[in-house]
Amino acid sequence: MIVVKVGGSAGIDYDAVCADIAARWKNGDRLILVHGGSGETNRVAEALGHPPKFVTSPSGYTSRFTDRQTLEIFEMVYCGKMNKGIVERLQRLGVNAVGLSGLDGRIFEGRHKDSVRAVENGKVKVLRGDHTGTVERVNTHLIDLLLAGGYLPVLTPPASSYDGVAINVDGDRAAAALAVALKADALLLLSNVPGLLRAYPDESSLICEIPAADVENYLEFAQDRMKKKVLGAAEAVQGGVKRVIFGDARNGQPVSAALGGQGTVVS
Ligand code: ADP
Repeated sequence: MIVVKVGGSAGIDYDAVCADIAARWKNGDRLILVHGGSGETNRVAEALGHPPKFVTSPSGYTSRFTDRQTLEIFEMVYCGKMNKGIVERLQRLGVNAVGLSGLDGRIFEGRHKDSVRAVENGKVKVLRGDHTGTVERVNTHLIDLLLAGGYLPVLTPPASSYDGVAINVDGDRAAAALAVALKADALLLLSNVPGLLRAYPDESSLICEIPAADVENYLEFAQDRMKKKVLGAAEAVQGGVKRVIFGDARNGQPVSAALGGQGTVVS
């Protein structure tokens, strides 16, 4: 089993990702696709007059502050436009894809964090009314049913809290939890960069290999949201996933290239 997570940043070629996935699926590979939608969510939020707000925690992690209105915009884009766009591409390519959020069948479950500690102007503030959390449980029953029926699952945040409230969760870490739960052979984290760069944004500074035991030491090279990918990779390999690859989804055959060792391979 291979879990492919494709991000939501500008420059990602979803046609290329879907064509590669469709070819491999038809060839007998077992795959699940998880996707993001951050870039498009930012655009739609601006257009609807509710611009995105990003907060940075005291430990340096950046996340989207998700009030109820933001959550609804987030769902419109992730579960609507992005998810159905990917499902449509796969259907056109002859793959019977089914798009679901983590809420559906409680595929992704976690605790609802209502408040977040954020650094603003050098001071730590507590912001309330946040609809976020972290995936702590993956309920694989529905996924197993879909795979057994020949359907390719296309999954996206939000997740469900234990009380059934929609929560915004990080897609990379959700994909990592899924890969662990499914005992996947590989987790691919595809984005708009060649992999983890030692000196971002210098693309010639690509880190090709990271020993699994050392992955957390590489957090220092990751800025902003890339940190979550490194954290997700650490969680996946610690949970038994043999290989995590940070790969490039901007063109070519992104899945095959990453599985062939292009990008940053954590193993
Ligand atoms: P996606 O939504 O595609 O999953 P993110 O925006 O969450 O991607 O994270 C990828 C982004 O992280 C890259 O587009 C890049 O701007 C940023 N980044 C920060 N530090 C690094 C690094 N050391 N190497 C590669 N990318 C990095």
